[in-house]
Amino acid sequence: MKLKIAIQKSGRLHEDSMQLLKECGVGVNNGANKLKVEASHFPLEVYFLRDDDIPQYVADGVADIGIVGENVLNEKGSKVHCIEKTGFGKCRLSIAIPKDSNIKTLKQLNGKKIATSYTHILSNYLKKQKITAEIHEISGSVEIAPSIGLSDAICDLVSSGSTLFSNGLKEFETVFYSEAVLIANPHLNATRNAMLNKLLFRIRAVKKATNNKYILLNAPNHKLKEICKLLPGMKSPTILPLAEKGWSSVHSVLDENDFWNNIEKLKASGAQGILVVPIEKMIV
Ligand code: ATP
Ligand code: ZN
Repeated sequence: MKLKIAIQKSGRLHEDSMQLLKECGVGVNNGANKLKVEASHFPLEVYFLRDDDIPQYVADGVADIGIVGENVLNEKGSKVHCIEKTGFGKCRLSIAIPKDSNIKTLKQLNGKKIATSYTHILSNYLKKQKITAEIHEISGSVEIAPSIGLSDAICDLVSSGSTLFSNGLKEFETVFYSEAVLIANPHLNATRNAMLNKLLFRIRAVKKATNNKYILLNAPNHKLKEICKLLPGMKSPTILPLAEKGWSSVHSVLDENDFWNNIEKLKASGAQGILVVPIEKMIV
């Protein structure tokens, strides 16, 4: 028996989804542009689909699990379990308005036309904000809607904002933050569940590794206590004596968040020769 995973066939999530599987030790050969391929080194079958179809395929059990943006998942409202955030495909669904628009407050959206492909998420948001606006559903090129007179505002995915900018729009309000997530059919049998857990264990190890760095530094012995306090590491830091008397080498793991702040503190505490190396897998 094989676990069936649905990933995006092509587009923004394709590369990162393939990379994640690769880092989990799953070999996927996507040369022939097929709908379905058998993975190597793991009992997995990979389906390449349009991202919009992934939640339904997983809900129906055609695929057991899938990787899809939370934006698509939320919009479709399919009955699947959200298992794990992947850390990639980060973006936000935002309301944007023309640069010269006289809309200044959220309230001023009352009675206005907003073009979007995300009618479900947007109407929920507007309801919560007690705003009555007219939602125009369009499936693509939403960003041109105001310039052709179709709407006063749009609600679309943004990451850098450069698409908005080149269409004479500015971001006005964020409606929803999204990233790619691993989803699963809620009725997996015990065997498939065990396979999912095995894959999940690997995904977490890969994610943890990308969020952490291995750090090596030299420190005068009388500063070790202070420096070790800044380096909790996985259990505790490794301390090895240097050839030079009165000095030690300290090895530990450092969280990628707040990384530079911690480096500055370590330097200020007397650490020297600081080396930082990437970690490939991290199992805690
Ligand atoms: P498909 O052909 O599979 O339907 P698509 O054109 O609908 O593809 P993409 O543009 O490839 O979709 O985006 C896939 C997902 O990538 C989005 O649903 C979203 O979760 C994520 N994403 C991340 N950044 C952005 C961005 N700046 N714009 C759009 N999507 C983004
Ligand atoms: Zn799509």
